[in-house]
Parts: sequence; structure tokens; C-alpha cells
Amino acid sequence: MGAPQLAMIGMAVMGSNFAQNFAEKGFDIALFNRTDSVTKEVYESAKNEPYADKLHPVYGEMPDLVEKVGKQGTYFIMVKAGFPTDAMIEQLLPLLEPGAVIVDCSNAHYKDTARRHEEISPKKIHFFGCGVSGGEEGARHGPSIMPGGYSREVYEEKLKGPLEAVAAKAPQDGKPCVTYIGNGGGGHYVKMVHNGIEYADMQLIAEAYDFMTRALGMSAAEIGAVFEQWNSGVLESYLIEITAEVLKQQDPSGQGQLVDFILDAAQMKGTGTWTVISSLEISDGVIPLPGIYAAVESRAISWKKDARVTMSKEFSFPVTQYEGDKEQIIKDLEQALYVAKIACYTQGIELMQAGDKEYEFGGLDIASIAEIWRDGCIIRANFLGDITDAYRKNPPSNLLLAAVFKAAVTEGMTAVNNVCVAAIHAHVPFMAFDASRDYILQATSERLPQNLTQGQRDFFGAHTYKRTDKKGTFHTEWSGDRSEKEL
Ligand code: NAP
Repeated sequence: MGAPQLAMIGMAVMGSNFAQNFAEKGFDIALFNRTDSVTKEVYESAKNEPYADKLHPVYGEMPDLVEKVGKQGTYFIMVKAGFPTDAMIEQLLPLLEPGAVIVDCSNAHYKDTARRHEEISPKKIHFFGCGVSGGEEGARHGPSIMPGGYSREVYEEKLKGPLEAVAAKAPQDGKPCVTYIGNGGGGHYVKMVHNGIEYADMQLIAEAYDFMTRALGMSAAEIGAVFEQWNSGVLESYLIEITAEVLKQQDPSGQGQLVDFILDAAQMKGTGTWTVISSLEISDGVIPLPGIYAAVESRAISWKKDARVTMSKEFSFPVTQYEGDKEQIIKDLEQALYVAKIACYTQGIELMQAGDKEYEFGGLDIASIAEIWRDGCIIRANFLGDITDAYRKNPPSNLLLAAVFKAAVTEGMTAVNNVCVAAIHAHVPFMAFDASRDYILQATSERLPQNLTQGQRDFFGAHTYKRTDKKGTFHTEWSGDRSEKEL
């Protein structure tokens, strides 16, 4: 039994599983929790595991932990984000010496991470904000890990080895799903955008399910079989795979499918909303995220179940059955889902690039970020390998311009139109699909109607406008002689 140089603070689901992952990979790790009984329970339940001699439970207070791990040790914190994380850091900090490392693995807000950097760095203690994706299973057997902090050298020296050991390994080439992301709150920023993309991906899948249920009259089990089949095509991904599993699950009562009895009100923990808020705060201008926005909005509306039930008694928009070729529209739905997914990843990438500039993460490497999302995390998919290839070889200015995605979108727009039209006729809400379609059309339009918007703004607020035929800034005297002035 060696002396632990690593510590895991927080023994709830994530911390206890992550700690056991480190132990299994050969790292001696101290286990610590605010409440000792939780640590005891975790240790007791793991003490017959082959790696148990690598687990070092510490009971008592923070000084007891530091005595065991050392004043220059590496401390992972995996407690509730926000105040509890600050509380743990506050107790830990005065006990450490320069050279120690604190790694916050909570789902922290990137601005909190940046603030913690400012507070901790002057003490010459290295602080990293580390996004971890993959839930309980990922933490235990290999998550996708997004560490950010100052600096890459410290990351290489102190964290690269242990994190590469515990991270998921991409099935395509065995590469660990972890890379140094960037400065300050970069790791948590990228994890936040990952979650925003995850929201959009899930909403698109939900809408495809809804369309098949209501417009095509298919049962959950039948739809599950469609998703299972889709999982061997371009949509192959963890989310499509688990969708098939959820849809095929029988209800324990033996009467039909479980999904038909689950309340249609989706919860949110905040990262989707943070993604949208961040897109509105970029000083160079708002980054459009209609697909991610639609996902957040749709969850918000779903949550108002009682209000929806009341309203449904006042309005009637009856769902009508699709009367066209059912087999063909399911094929269109698959293709449209792929195109809409590309649109949502395009939005997420654009936000990461804007966030990088805004918060000085030091140059996010989109190819590497997509690469570490290939396994361990919720949005894992083969498709991410294509994003890596696109950005590694000859980075496009926009994901839609990468040859493989340009071709998919060009070929798939008819399918997108078909399913959007069918959903409109059937009265099936399709917010994320519609938003994705409009996003692609707007983002690829040489001309948009905002010339009129600018005319209106100049009319009521003298906000001025530019012209297409000559340089300069102009204003029309709308309430006077309607002459135009160059300003
Ligand atoms: P959790 O329910 O978010 O947090 C429970 C842990 O926080 C316990 O160790 C608890 O200690 C500690 N805690 C709560 N309030 C505290 C306080 N005031 N002072 C000190 N410690 C306090 O646990 P979790 O689901 O395992 O998640 C841990 C962290 O990982 C969270 O930040 C979460 O956002 C992040 N995360 C979760 C996932 C996921 O899929 N669940 C994925 C990635 C990251 P006591 O036992 O003493 O109450």
C-alpha cells in the first residue's frame, strides 16, 4: 500500500465512482467527504474489490486529509457545484503549499472557475476547472474529461498521466478522451457547450419520436426498432442507442411500454440555459443557437404540465395522420435528423470559438475537442470523428463548409423540408427541427429581410443604415422631407 498523492473530495455518486476508477488504474487515492459516514459506506462497499488497497479513506476534517496526501498533493473536488465547492476550497487552501493542485470536477459555471483561478493562483497553487461527462458509468469506467487551467505545462506534468489513465478510450483508435482544453474556465466552458449540444440532440430525437408516434401512428416498440436501425447508419451514437432501449422497455405492469407512462415534463439542471445565456453575452455580437435554444424552450414548456392540460381544453389543434408514403417519410426523418444535428453542432462550435476569444482560453482546438467527445460522454458518436478530420486537416470557417457536412446538408435539405411540412400539416410541434431548418436557410442566404428591419430602425430611432450600392452610413428624414443624408 503506497501513500496517496491524489485525493477525491466528495463521495457521492460521481466522486466515489471516479475515485474507484483511479484506484483501478493503479493510483493510490484518498477518499474524503464532508460527512464521514458516506466515505465509510463507499469504502466498505469497495473493500473486496481487487483495487481496494489503493483506496485510502480519511475520516475527520480537512487537515486530516492534507496530512495523508501532502501539502503539495493533487486534490480532485467532486461535490455540489457552487457554494459547496467554494467551501471545500476555502478549507483546503490554507493547508496547501505552492505546487499543490486543485481540480474542480463539479459542473461549475465557467465564470466561477475563472474567479477561483484569480483567487487561488496568487498562492502559487495550481487550479484546474475540469468538465467531466458520462454520468456515473463514465466516472467509474471512463468519462470524457475537459480540463482547463493555467497552464498546459502543469497539466502535462501533474494531470495528464492520471487523467489519461482514467478517461474513456475511443474505440476507433484507443486514444484517451481527455486533452488540455485551455486557460481559465475553458474546460468548464467546453463542457457547458457539450451539454447545450446534448440538449439539442435529445430534443431532435424527441421530436422525431413524437412525429412517428402521432403523425405516423406508430407504437413505442415500433419506433424503438426504427432507432435501432438508425443506429447502424449516419446517426450512430450513444443517444440513438439508448433511445431504442428506452422505447423498447416494457412497463413493469406488463401493459405496454414504460415510456408511455413516463410524465412528459423534462427537467433541467442549468447547463443548457447557461449555454444560451453565454451566446447572448458575447461582446462581438450574439452567437445564434436556435437549435439549442429550442431544446431549452421545449423543456421549459414541457415542465408546465398543468398549464398545458388547462390550455389543451381551450384550444383544439387535432393531430392528423400523415397520408403519404410512410416508409419514405421515415427515411426522410433519418436524413433530416442528421442535417439538423449538423446544424446544432455548427452552432455549438461557433459558440466555443466565440467564447475562446471572449474569455481568452488561448485557442480552443476544435479537432481535439471533437476527438475527446468520441467516447465517454453523452454525445459520443462516430460522427465526431468527421468533425475532427474536418478541423485537423484544413479548418473550415464554419462546420457547414467542411466537404462532408456540406454534401450532407445539400443532399438532405429536401428531406428536412419534407418532414417539417409533414409535421406542420399534422400539428406536431417541431421546434428544434424547424429552428435547424431556418438556421441553415438563413446562414446560407446571401440576402435576408433585415434591410427592412434597418429601414424601420432608422424610421423610429434614427439608428442609420448602410447601403448596398455605396459606402458610408445614412439616415433618411422619415418625418420630414424624406431626404437621405450621409453621416
Ligand atoms: P451531488 O449530489 O451533486 O453532491 C453531493 C456531494 O456534495 C456530497 O459529497 C456532499 O457531501 C457534498 N456537499 C454538498 N453540500 C456540501 C457543502 N456545503 N460542503 C461540502 N460538501 C457538500 O453529487 P454527484 O451527483 O456525485 O455530483 C458531484 C459533482 O459532479 C457535482 O458538482 C455534479 O454537478 C458533477 N457532475 C455530475 C455528473 C452526473 O452525471 N451526475 C456528471 C459530471 C459532473 P455530504 O455527503 O456531506 O452531503
